[in-house]
Amino acid sequence: MIVQGDPSDIDRFSNDILTYAPPASRIKSIDVFPSIVGEYDRFTVTESRVVNDQITEISPDIAVCDQCLEDMSSDPARIDYPFINCTNCGPRFTIINGLPYDRPVTTMSGFRMCPKCSAEYNDINDRRFHAQPIACNSCGPSCEFTDGKVIIKELREILDKTSSIIDGGGSLALKGVGGYHLACDALNNDAVARLRQGKNRDMKPFAVMFRDLAALKEYCHTDSSEEKELLSWIRPVVLLISKRSLAPQVSNGLVTTGALLPFMPFHYLLFRHLKTPVIVLTSGNISEEPVIKDDSEARDKLLKSADALVSYNRDISNRADDSVVMVTKPGIIIIRRSRGYVPRPVDLAFDAEGILALGAEQKNTFSIGRKNQAIMGQYTGDLKNAGVCDFYRESIENFSSLFRFTPRYIAHDLHPDYYSTLYASFLREKYGIPSVAVQHHHAHIASCLAERCLDEKVIGVSLDGTGYGTDGNMWGGEFMIADTGSFERYCHFDYVPMPGGDRVVDEPWRMAFSYLYKYFGDSFDYYSLEVFRRTEKHKLDLVSEMLGKNINAPLSSGAGRLFDAVSALTGLCHEASFDSEAPMRIESAINHNSDVCYPFRIADTVVFADMFLAILDDLKKVDVSEISARFHNTIAQVIVEVAERIRSSRGIGKVVLSGGVFQNRYILERTFQMLEKRRFMVYTNHQVPVNDGGISLGQTAVASKHFGLCV
Ligand code: ZN
Ligand code: ZN
Ligand code: FE
Repeated sequence: MIVQGDPSDIDRFSNDILTYAPPASRIKSIDVFPSIVGEYDRFTVTESRVVNDQITEISPDIAVCDQCLEDMSSDPARIDYPFINCTNCGPRFTIINGLPYDRPVTTMSGFRMCPKCSAEYNDINDRRFHAQPIACNSCGPSCEFTDGKVIIKELREILDKTSSIIDGGGSLALKGVGGYHLACDALNNDAVARLRQGKNRDMKPFAVMFRDLAALKEYCHTDSSEEKELLSWIRPVVLLISKRSLAPQVSNGLVTTGALLPFMPFHYLLFRHLKTPVIVLTSGNISEEPVIKDDSEARDKLLKSADALVSYNRDISNRADDSVVMVTKPGIIIIRRSRGYVPRPVDLAFDAEGILALGAEQKNTFSIGRKNQAIMGQYTGDLKNAGVCDFYRESIENFSSLFRFTPRYIAHDLHPDYYSTLYASFLREKYGIPSVAVQHHHAHIASCLAERCLDEKVIGVSLDGTGYGTDGNMWGGEFMIADTGSFERYCHFDYVPMPGGDRVVDEPWRMAFSYLYKYFGDSFDYYSLEVFRRTEKHKLDLVSEMLGKNINAPLSSGAGRLFDAVSALTGLCHEASFDSEAPMRIESAINHNSDVCYPFRIADTVVFADMFLAILDDLKKVDVSEISARFHNTIAQVIVEVAERIRSSRGIGKVVLSGGVFQNRYILERTFQMLEKRRFMVYTNHQVPVNDGGISLGQTAVASKHFGLCV
């Protein structure tokens, strides 16, 4: 930018840039240099030029702003206009097809601006100056309602109809910013149960959208930082502690609610007509497939179970699910990074040019490296689903063309059977480029090092469900001494067989059996415990045989498996009806006033035999919430004690916590607090997910070091 004037004017100008920056802008620094140029007599913004290889950042999608909401009742051309937007708000990433970001390369290209919009678009003093998706009632996109029989195009009628469907206990497919949603009254249990059935969804909790913050606060506890996230332009789903219960089918007995506030103009209009203050708003997909973004697919698949569908005639170019976050004492924890975050890059302290990191398997994201930035793709889902695999490959291609990226190096997980690993070998052949396999838990730790611009030996605590280890076993209770270049496995949770392999994930009681079998053997009286009396005898015999003969019982040190075992033992989760149910139920049960901790032993591994003995004893004496607290306290204590050992033997004082277990708020906060009290420097992920959604960033860091790109 060239600015002409007195030094004081220039100072004021750069201050104004900071003061009046649009909410979604990101100013990294302002540097002022003197320059000799021609005379200018007015302020101009010149046309974007395509410069080869130069990349511009693409803005994530921004929730409708307050001024636009006001305009919806005062601007005659935009009264109740559901696609109102301005330079400060509206869709971005989800409508873009190419760069530079100008209207012709967006899915707005088919809409011709009317004279009023065009005048505003070209007026530098207007809030809609160069707002690419600018539109109004006479020239922009419009909504359409269908129930399979009638089609309604009049907005007022659409709102009447949709609100009466929801208030009457029906359900609706609703086209959002980055894909379709399914919605119903979150206070009507039958409606929620039916929606669940139609979606073919297990019992996983649904996110809900409240009319406004006041309504939300009647049902959920919030503090000021949670409210800030709820109201931010990103408008993520925020995991909150429930205060009053919604329909039981929404959260299925968990003490948290995933809540969000309206982010599209249509949501505000809908709530004006609705009686209920809260609706279920969940991804419009069937089972584990990617969220649906195309209108014809939505009609084919969603209208089968939803009573009606509301769409609009602007295409969604890039999918983006709702992002999910949690506000903890150490800071924000991102659980799903998508709408509002993507494709904002993560700034790195090293060169990542040309690195394509393919992520892991569950909650997958990939990442492309451009100079000293990692641009992470949106949440894709679990790469066990064929539809998710298609979406994954498609997104990698999209990002490559959007950001003019050509892979020069590939980073992937060490697991030989992950889809992302197979895809890595395909790409390696296709481009004839080198690749590196990155151990999963090393990637977790490196993801945190990368976002915090650290590269030194740290105590890496990586706790999660599973990840392929260098010894061929499943890891996940890992204490490492690591930097981005390498890691040493200092200590880990005891190896325990998983009878039936992946079956243990659906049947946590198998892990309860396996732990007791490992520590107390054949002679233990399994039938003295409720958990095994509840289990079918033939299954129990089979599991016992697998363990006795070591058939189909791969070893795991996964912390998630330990949570499974204790959750099953305490009767909280015998069989899981959704992913991570057992750990979520045991976290939900915690008594927050207990400081008691179970005994354990740290040798070459962390041995939990004494803890299980104490739990077995407690099962007869104290209630489940107390056992849950004691168990959680034990895990935090284990982390602290191992960290102390490493510090005293190696002199390392920085601890990095990463892996899915740290989505457990209690574990994260307690561990942080205990470590800081002992004067450790403690770090965790805040820009990318602490779960496997952050793996691709860690792989990028390790690959940069491996291929010698670091500066
Ligand atoms: Zn706006
Ligand atoms: Zn217009
Ligand atoms: Fe993991």
